[in-house]
Amino acid sequence: METNVIEKVFGIDVFNDDRMREKLPKDVYKSWKKTLESGADLDTDIANAVAHAMKEWALEHGATHYTHWFQPMTGVTAEKHDSFLSPATDSRPVLVFSGKELIKGEPDASSFPSGGLRATFEARGYTAWDCTSPAFLREDAAGVTLCIPTAFCSYTGEALDKKTPLLRSMEAISKQAVRILRLFGYNDVKKVSCSVGPEQEYFLVDRDKYLQRKDLIFTGRTLFGAPAPKGQELDDHYFGTIKERIAAFMKDLNIELWKLGVLSKTQHNEVAPAQHEMAPIFATANISTDHNQLVMEVMKKVAKRHNLECLLHEKPFAGVNGSGKHNNWSIITDTGINLLDPGKKPHENTLFLLFLAAVIKAVDDNAELLRLSASNPGNDHRLGANEAPPAIISIFLGEQLEDVIEQIVKGDADASSSIQGGQLDTGVHVLPVIRKDATDRNRTSPFAFTGNKFEFRMLGSSLSIAGPNFTLNAIVADALQDFADELESVENFDSAVKELIKKTIIEHKKVIFNGDGYSDDWISEAERRGLPNIKSMVEAIPYLVCDKTVKLFERQNVLNRVELESRVEINYEIYSKTINIEAKTMIDMAGKQYIPSIISYLTNLADSINSVKAASSDADVSVQTELLNKCSSLLAQAQKALANLKKVTAEAANKEEGKEQATFFKEVVFTAMEELRAPIDELEMIVDQDYWPVPTYGDLLFEV
Ligand code: ADP
Ligand code: MG
Repeated sequence: METNVIEKVFGIDVFNDDRMREKLPKDVYKSWKKTLESGADLDTDIANAVAHAMKEWALEHGATHYTHWFQPMTGVTAEKHDSFLSPATDSRPVLVFSGKELIKGEPDASSFPSGGLRATFEARGYTAWDCTSPAFLREDAAGVTLCIPTAFCSYTGEALDKKTPLLRSMEAISKQAVRILRLFGYNDVKKVSCSVGPEQEYFLVDRDKYLQRKDLIFTGRTLFGAPAPKGQELDDHYFGTIKERIAAFMKDLNIELWKLGVLSKTQHNEVAPAQHEMAPIFATANISTDHNQLVMEVMKKVAKRHNLECLLHEKPFAGVNGSGKHNNWSIITDTGINLLDPGKKPHENTLFLLFLAAVIKAVDDNAELLRLSASNPGNDHRLGANEAPPAIISIFLGEQLEDVIEQIVKGDADASSSIQGGQLDTGVHVLPVIRKDATDRNRTSPFAFTGNKFEFRMLGSSLSIAGPNFTLNAIVADALQDFADELESVENFDSAVKELIKKTIIEHKKVIFNGDGYSDDWISEAERRGLPNIKSMVEAIPYLVCDKTVKLFERQNVLNRVELESRVEINYEIYSKTINIEAKTMIDMAGKQYIPSIISYLTNLADSINSVKAASSDADVSVQTELLNKCSSLLAQAQKALANLKKVTAEAANKEEGKEQATFFKEVVFTAMEELRAPIDELEMIVDQDYWPVPTYGDLLFEV
């Protein structure tokens, strides 16, 4: 039998554990594994041996270059390629790759966003090998390149990227979780890691049509566009049959991802027309983060092969659903215990209840921070804007846990029962008997317990998952540290731990909400409960440097005040620059495409009125005249809005960088953009389609 394609290609481009074992001398491999497990500093000899093995393997696969692959604050990945070539003594080339080159790189840091860190410190930046995420090969027109996942820091050690705080946060949560586990007698656990499975939503549109839309090219979303006659109202796209062209894309995407060791698992059509989703099997947080970056990169690349364009923007089209990323997250020990698995009898599972209490406390205490971690300019179109999920952070626990929690709150710290799943009655005898879960799902919750993990559903689709995950890890680590501090000194552990669970739940119960997160009632109810409702990214940014946050991130060694302050600046800058590009694109399209086309149409209409009149002075030209008047008046409105947008965009440039400028962009420029869009979209529905200068929503969403 022929080998299955998955078996054939899986991991062939990854320098994984098997390859290491194959290529390294036995004793070196052993000490390498030991270093990895203990987290100790890497010995130079081992680094040299690993580098040599890596190089041999890469050369066998045709690699000419290597690169330190890193994740600066731009949110996308960066790389600078070096060939393996080294000065040769005779005329033959010598190919070299040393341990030093593997461990450390020195890209010039001066052109990456650093939010003032560079001004205070140095232009020098270092990339440091993240030896816990395997190196991989990437093949493109440049040839084959060996990519080494790295973290990126300044000369004085400040994090200049998203990976460094993620790695720090993984150590933080491991340290605190292990303290708790010791108290429960789990002395064999040495390390705890966070598992993450991100579901990735995306749109695919025809590339020829994409190339005719400057807004998609420059900003990733449509800045104009009237709704198509059909949207998502029939619910016929969600889980619908996948079109051949899309299926061919998905097949290719899977193969490319499997080659890179990404555990691509599910694929389906999403709610909006032309929208799809892919989810991998979960992996350790840093690997999952690397993989998600690769997923986004490979989606874009593979789409082009099919003459498609992959849109990862959170809101490419107004009026239909946008795209997000669901971040499934859990904590698992190195002995294989999922600490968020309630088991069959959660009410008796004190260890689980304590970790659950830590998550509830962490989320309630740091809701603003979590909200910020999921924000980017694109996600502002979703969060709090009547689309999945609302901007208010709440936790969905489901019927079973809600019931256990009620018992704990009411009773004397000991809950006595757990609701069980039971059997599903379909009313059809030929169908097999299905056991159902103890809890239904809730699609409207931003932070939902889903059986043995939490699903953080607020993330924007284009966002790096590093930020949300280092935030989650850090806040939960902090809650666990409080717990460990308290419990390590008590005499009667059993009763103290139950008391602590009860006390924590009573204090933070307000963040738990099992109802409909999309309803207006919830907004007022949340307000009564005192839960924050932060409507935009700009309003969320200051929480990154509020006292509470600085204290927490410093205590967990994830980010210090200086690093946090730099991130505040970067966030404001990203917001302002994004809206500025959008405004300039609108000015360009309105001035050079829409308005001239509308004028041509109007001229044609006026000519036709004149010629009809000339042919017969009695002819009724009321239809043409009405159209002419309507369009002329909308055109005048558009021209006025365009002038205003130009004016306020110029004004924005003179505002003080940071909060003031970002707020101006949000409140003034963004509003002016909407005022320009409205008349043009209205005109789109009236003007003869032969005159319309760009593909419409109908063309983009339905003609893939
Ligand atoms: P759904 O859309 O129904 O929520 P999916 O199958 O699309 O489910 O995605 C669920 C994601 O959760 C997958 O990436 C899966 O690997 C991940 N996942 C499952 N168990 C865990 C866990 N213990 N920790 C983290 N992620 C998990
Ligand atoms: Mg999901």
